[in-house]
Amino acid sequence: MDEFMEAALAEARKGYAEGGIPIGSVLVHQGKVIGRGHNKRVQEGSVILHGEMSALENAGRQPVSVYRECVLYTTLSPCPMCSGTILLYGIPRVVIGENETFMGEEELLRSRGVDVTVVDNPECRALMQEFIAQKPELWNEDIGV
Ligand SMILES: [Zn+2]
Repeated sequence: MDEFMEAALAEARKGYAEGGIPIGSVLVHQGKVIGRGHNKRVQEGSVILHGEMSALENAGRQPVSVYRECVLYTTLSPCPMCSGTILLYGIPRVVIGENETFMGEEELLRSRGVDVTVVDNPECRALMQEFIAQKPELWNEDIGV
């Protein structure tokens, strides 16, 4: 597995171990992780800290010139909120662990010129499946179902 997807998955596992939703993400700039995070709905009672939002928040304020050279890695296909944020800051490339559990706004991202790669990683998928089997209501809450 790619080292950055490995880092995103490590974040997802950390979140799961905390009793949270196992989705992780890292923001990479010029081959270096500048922000990492995982979903914090349970841990912080947050309605906006999805894995991707958490990684972006953790990276802190960055100039436009940095975002334009970033790659966002996420273990799961990004929802409308996270996809909107990717577009807002002009992040040009997104690498997704899997989109079988949840199909996010990949079409929207591609239509706006974002380079989207789905690596279809079985470990990302297995972790989500295990979590959803255990806590289906928590998962539904996170995706607004
Ligand atoms: Zn999201």
